[in-house]
Amino acid sequence: MVLRTARVGLRVTAAQRERCFGLLASAGDVWACVLDMNRWQRHRGLRPLASYQELCRELSAAGPGTFGELDTTGARSVLRRYSDAWFAAAKRRAGGDSLARFPRRKRGLVPVRYYHGTFVLDGQRLRLPVGRGCAPLWVRLDRELPYPVEQVRSVTLLNEGRRLFVEVTAEVPVATYEPGCEPDPGRVAGVDPGVIHPFAVAGPGAEGLIVSGRAIRAETHLHLKDTKHRRRAVAQRAPKPGQAGSRRWRKHRARQRKIEARHKRRVKQAQHEAAKTVIGWAVKRRIGTLVVGDPRGVLDLKAGRRHNQRVRAWRVGYLLRCLKDKAEQAGIRVMLVDERGTSSTCPACGRRVPKPAGRLFTCMHCGFSGHRDLVGGANIARRRPGGPITTKNLFPVVITHRRAGRHLPGTGPARRDPRRRPHHGALAGSIGRPRPAPPPWGVARLSGEDQPTTVKHGQRSLTRH
Ligand SMILES: [Zn+2]
Repeated sequence: MVLRTARVGLRVTAAQRERCFGLLASAGDVWACVLDMNRWQRHRGLRPLASYQELCRELSAAGPGTFGELDTTGARSVLRRYSDAWFAAAKRRAGGDSLARFPRRKRGLVPVRYYHGTFVLDGQRLRLPVGRGCAPLWVRLDRELPYPVEQVRSVTLLNEGRRLFVEVTAEVPVATYEPGCEPDPGRVAGVDPGVIHPFAVAGPGAEGLIVSGRAIRAETHLHLKDTKHRRRAVAQRAPKPGQAGSRRWRKHRARQRKIEARHKRRVKQAQHEAAKTVIGWAVKRRIGTLVVGDPRGVLDLKAGRRHNQRVRAWRVGYLLRCLKDKAEQAGIRVMLVDERGTSSTCPACGRRVPKPAGRLFTCMHCGFSGHRDLVGGANIARRRPGGPITTKNLFPVVITHRRAGRHLPGTGPARRDPRRRPHHGALAGSIGRPRPAPPPWGVARLSGEDQPTTVKHGQRSLTRH
């Protein structure tokens, strides 16, 4: 059994919405109370209250009705959150990490988690528990739950900007296969995570998979550009330190948060798609072990603000977590290895070659050439304990190309962002009348799953990716 979490939007009336935000605000009050209480403890020279039991005792001493409509189970989930964060920080500090900090920041709205047995799920309707004496709070989910109701373990009410969501966590069984189709741990593939190609996989039988993430990068670039313009436009209205912001400024901030949240959702969705593609490909080829290069060791190096921005926008931690979670459910083992130097080592002769600027890797010692990211993948597969010395025979010849993020704006043939409509209709210099976003490029062509493109070594592929 593995725990999986899905985020589902809520459809609420104005009154339900107000009550839901009331619950989140009450949870924020609980959080602030705990912070204040521990500040007083510190001023008096006493030890902080951090264990869940101690905090629950304080809560019951406060009595019912202290936190609006929030019931005991909801308030306790905030205490649990605080306690977990506190002990995690304490553990990191004990381990010598002096940068780890205890929870200290008050937040207006804090997510509330309800465990199994406290809420009711009835089709697309969800009843959240509220304090005694309050009217029952039913809300409607905006889509079917992806899990059977009896597997659901908890729901978490949260907001993103002005939108309400619940995160539903369920226990899902590990996939089962027919005899002869299950993943074989002896079949190993190397995975190289990257920015342009979120995943490049070099598998057994000289087969490879490249998932293109150009759509994600385009979305990131557009978002960054838009944000810059918006910042410049409102810089004049920014409040000075100590000043309250104007109404226009507050509106700008709300809009900024909304756009930021949408951008994050778009990128995450594409990253999930990329990971799903890899796992589907691996399951078909009965690959039981994925050796994944972990670049996080080299990311802390300072490399200038542009590169830092790129690294931050990559969100590689989330990308790897997606892959790990999906692999776990599919019954595939994931091994993380240090990827240092894997994209600059020749897979045929093992000598160091300067990292190529483009996508084509060419070895000046032995004349080998191939796709740069697949070179990384092949070398990573070799890094596992007991791996082969050379990967010459394993280097992919048959390469499958897939794209992640085909829902993103700008992936159409026009490469025009449907978010930017021309202002003035058909005036000279305009790019034409407003049109709906073009259909995702290549939908019809890619209808047949898995048609690999054969690419000879050294020959640049002509498919768009
Ligand atoms: Zn070589």
